[in-house]
Amino acid sequence: MNASIPHAPMSQFVSDGEELLVNGIALSRLAARVGSTPFYAVDRGLLTQRVQALRAALPAGLKLHYAMKANPMPALVQHMARLVDGIDVASAGELLVALDAGADPHEVSFAGPGKRDAELVQAVASGVLVNVESQRELPVLAQASQTLGMPARVALRINPDFELKGSGMKMGGGPKQFGVDVEAVPEVLAAVARLGLAFEGFHLFAGSQNLKADAIAEAQSKSFDLAVRLADFAPSPVRFLNLGGGFGIPYFPGEQALDLAPIGDNLAALQERARDVLPQAELVIELGRYLVGEAGLYVTRVVDRKVSRGQTYLVCDGGLNHHLSASGNFGQVIRKNYPVTVGNRLSAPREVQTVVGPLCTPLDLLADRMALPRADVGDLVVVFQSGAYGASASPARFLGHPPVTEVLV
Ligand SMILES: *Cc1c(COP(=O)(O)O)cnc(C)c1O
Repeated sequence: MNASIPHAPMSQFVSDGEELLVNGIALSRLAARVGSTPFYAVDRGLLTQRVQALRAALPAGLKLHYAMKANPMPALVQHMARLVDGIDVASAGELLVALDAGADPHEVSFAGPGKRDAELVQAVASGVLVNVESQRELPVLAQASQTLGMPARVALRINPDFELKGSGMKMGGGPKQFGVDVEAVPEVLAAVARLGLAFEGFHLFAGSQNLKADAIAEAQSKSFDLAVRLADFAPSPVRFLNLGGGFGIPYFPGEQALDLAPIGDNLAALQERARDVLPQAELVIELGRYLVGEAGLYVTRVVDRKVSRGQTYLVCDGGLNHHLSASGNFGQVIRKNYPVTVGNRLSAPREVQTVVGPLCTPLDLLADRMALPRADVGDLVVVFQSGAYGASASPARFLGHPPVTEVLV
């Protein structure tokens, strides 16, 4: 490990000198309140602050959606539903959570490949916008519209002819299971018109976890230009243009927070242009991890401290089974450490320690030889940047350990 390259400061969480505070509550007291470890804790004050800061950096009138696959915990979705303009769901299961959370169906959109017929019927019956990913969805939506006596609201998700540069995960450009290839859009729009579906607009999502503001702005501009070209083929004016998101957060040493200013400037310019070329269109961005990732911690208790041939291991009561991404097994090419600390011993002298979970696999690694406050059995190891792609993105049943608790504080 190269100790000279630091993680970005995790200054969103303040401390009382010795313990991290989660929305004002010291970590050890929070652990007592939760009643068991491991747990995820998301600070609702930080969620609110993040949305406020983002709104301040983005042009007024731009719609902000929460992509709830980042964290589908019902209490959190309920909190977010009050702060943002809409919720993006990726399954009928998420759709039910969003509706339970009080989201206005008119401001919910449903994207994702492989939507089952029953999910499409649920979407039409709910009155949400379906981001069509395949021509196959159209006759199913038409049938549901007829049966229910309400026309399906549809937007086309486009697989563009460009990629999002510098993105951790590319989700557009080249051959993809997502969206309709640009080349096929005129034909699919003709089918939308023929089937009498309620066309509302376009959805583009080029990729995820990007820390390069210029690349994000460029992808948004290209997406906008593409939508303007495709609008010529649409059966009615574009009312909804979802330009995607992909805003990243700093996870690894050397990474820095995304600079929102160039993105906000670019979106303001696009909004200005939209007034001329897509006068009825509402511009939307959809963000998952950027909204919730930095507000969450994963907390696991040290069960054993052991030394093997000179290397100190903190063996904890949870790991990969609850937090696959921090273990490095959720899409990372080279494993790197998330920001980690010992959240109830912030002032203890630092030692190089390795944090592992209880699973019988060397993949169950939360911190590889990091300089951390010296910890012992009973102490609380904290993984920062854990508010997104945590519990719901982890193999909880693997090895049969207890499930993780999730709390909104
Ligand atoms: C996953 C996903 C998102 C959210 O991505 P983040 O990296 O969490 O912001 C948004 N839109 C679509 C279509 C997605 O599939």
